Amino acid sequence: MATQRPSCIGVLTSGGDAQGMNAALRSVVRTALDRDVEVYAIYEGYQGMVDGGDRIRKMTWDSVGGILYQGGTIIGTARCPAFQAREGRLQAAGNLLHHGIDRLIVIGGDGSLTGANIFREEWVGLVAELVETRRVEAEVAQRHPQLRIVGLVGSIDNDMYGTDMTIGTDSALHRITEAIDAINSTAASHQRSFVVEVMGRNCGYLALMSAIATGADWVLIPENPPEDHWEEKMCQLLQAGREAGRRDSIVVVAEGMRDRRGNPIKSEYIKNVLEERLGEETRVTVLGHVQRGGAPSAFDRNMSTILGYEAVQTILSENADNDSYLMGMRNNRITRLPLMHCVEQTRAVAEAIARQDYERAVKLRGTSFREAIQTMERLEQALPRPPQPGQKQLRLAVMNAGGPAPGMNTATRAAVRQGIDQGHVMLGIHDGFLGLINDSIMELGWMSVAGWASMGGSELGTNRKVPEGRDLYAIARTLEKHGIQGLLVIGGLAGYQASHRLSMERDNFPAFNIPIICMPATINNNLPGSELSIGADTALNNIVQAVDKIKQSAVASRRCFVVEVMGRHCGYLALMSGLATGAERVYIHEEGMKLADLQLDLNHLVRGFKGGKRLGLMIRSEGVHDVYNTSFMCALFEEEGGDLFDVRQAILGHLQQGGDPSPFDRSLATRLALKCVNFLIEESDNEVPRGAFIGLTGGKVQFFDLYDLPRMMDPRYGRPREQWWMELRNIARVLAQPGPHAWLEE
Ligand code: ADP
Repeated sequence: MATQRPSCIGVLTSGGDAQGMNAALRSVVRTALDRDVEVYAIYEGYQGMVDGGDRIRKMTWDSVGGILYQGGTIIGTARCPAFQAREGRLQAAGNLLHHGIDRLIVIGGDGSLTGANIFREEWVGLVAELVETRRVEAEVAQRHPQLRIVGLVGSIDNDMYGTDMTIGTDSALHRITEAIDAINSTAASHQRSFVVEVMGRNCGYLALMSAIATGADWVLIPENPPEDHWEEKMCQLLQAGREAGRRDSIVVVAEGMRDRRGNPIKSEYIKNVLEERLGEETRVTVLGHVQRGGAPSAFDRNMSTILGYEAVQTILSENADNDSYLMGMRNNRITRLPLMHCVEQTRAVAEAIARQDYERAVKLRGTSFREAIQTMERLEQALPRPPQPGQKQLRLAVMNAGGPAPGMNTATRAAVRQGIDQGHVMLGIHDGFLGLINDSIMELGWMSVAGWASMGGSELGTNRKVPEGRDLYAIARTLEKHGIQGLLVIGGLAGYQASHRLSMERDNFPAFNIPIICMPATINNNLPGSELSIGADTALNNIVQAVDKIKQSAVASRRCFVVEVMGRHCGYLALMSGLATGAERVYIHEEGMKLADLQLDLNHLVRGFKGGKRLGLMIRSEGVHDVYNTSFMCALFEEEGGDLFDVRQAILGHLQQGGDPSPFDRSLATRLALKCVNFLIEESDNEVPRGAFIGLTGGKVQFFDLYDLPRMMDPRYGRPREQWWMELRNIARVLAQPGPHAWLEE
């Protein structure tokens, strides 16, 4: 019996382009090659499939090299009317069979994925017709009895059911927040109002999240149109904001905005309302295609890479039934759902909006979306308010602790405003626990945190001090002196440890018997109870941008870079930046480092450069090994590399902690800060108030008791005992270099 030619994978990008499509393509191609399966790229979307010829090209490891940082899609995308007709699909089937392709990975929006599913359903009939009309041989047809489809959603709108994020959304949010931040500064200078229109026909995700991230005053999204006479309410709130001292007013509106009766709400209309009713000079900015452009964010690169890898595993799995699947990401984990179910649910949102059933539209978008709407509504209406009659007015203190993390200011601002809005007094402690020891405290008014939503660094000041011995007396005195009734610590490990210490000393110091809540803010992402900490996403983007530049600097020479990133003993930043920049080796403390590894890596480098390679990239976490440190590694590689290649080290240092917080870090900071203040208020009624730390785990916000901190930490290395991202190491290994992998399997 003749051995069967294995079936091949085809991959295409279709519909609107989105940043991150290239990362998905790279991952699909390299994962397929790693599995020893041939993979073809179909250029120009379905048009290339219909046209065939050189629009269907076999891919090699190198054909997807150097594309991670590029926006758009290198294999092109198109809208293809021909594929909407059966004749076009017949031709497409013939072209696929010509290459033995019967597994398709489609990266596109709901239109493209629907098209793919129709194609799959028709496959048997199409193939039979091709045999009958002698366009394909019966033997070939027999080898490909079915078409398998896996879809990845490429769409900046984040409009697909079944995945928390679609490919391109996070990058689009980066572009939008950059733009609104820029507008904010000019708006504040002139005391002007701005209406900013962002993309999203039936989906308000971009508008909503960018409004939260930039501290905008009012947002309009199609899933949740405002009540009648909203114009009045909007103007009242904007006016009140001005009276409270605010210099800029920003309204964000989704392009597809309609009111509750289905009539469009245009940006120009909002501008006219603001000008007429508030007498303010108002400008409209329509952001347009910049939202699709630019380099993909670290998140988009990594999510697309992971999805591409999993798509190949799914499409090659022997026991998969003949259904089409959509690979998505939910609560930080990969999901695989029937494709058409997701498409139907997605369409159901548009239908619900058209039927003016907004409750259903929001419900279909999921709980985090609903929660984000509630957060925005709170922020829109937050104003300095005196306590309600009979209400207990609390004195709540906020501090930053540990190393600086972008997003600390965002969190502080949200907390302070939430507290003041609820009628409480908010106090700011300078320089972490040192400020509490030295009594460096001041009251924070509404306007004292203006503009902090988008500001990097820590305006309050932060410090790694963990109090001990006599410090505790000083802290107790300060707490008593200021009558502090609740403490919010926004920070990293030092903040958590210090808070834990206060909790443990409650019997000795009655002043410590107050509610304490810690919020995860460190670029290292090494805190228990939260899969992600505030600042880590920004740091990752900082690293990725720096490494992109470093890579570009090496185009003309044969050079290996050894890049050292922060993280102490936690390898999160190293691994994730390695994934996002295509490093061929990542060294993390969790895996350790042996001389034998270095020898293997060196052999691999030598082989690579001898074979014509021009650039090597190794990323190491700062704490990976004390002796085999970055200088040692570089010296070793340099010596052994001889004339073949030279070696440069890049210790990225503090640029990783700087910069404006990313949209993700801002929205996480805001979301958690509101919950933390509510926690302090609720706990203040308890005789024995809790000490806790908050976090985002499995997509849910959760509280953990401070007493559990030691149990959840690895005390030797200051990192959580369980780290979810460790399972991504294998993907990083597979994509790092064509096998066999020098990066040892465990
Ligand atoms: P998106 O995938 O971004 O939603 P479109 O809806 O424009 O973008 O779809 C992109 C392409 O997918 C179309 O030009 C067409 O080739 C194909 N397509 C979309 N809908 C269908 C369909 N119902 N049947 C067949 N092909 C379709």
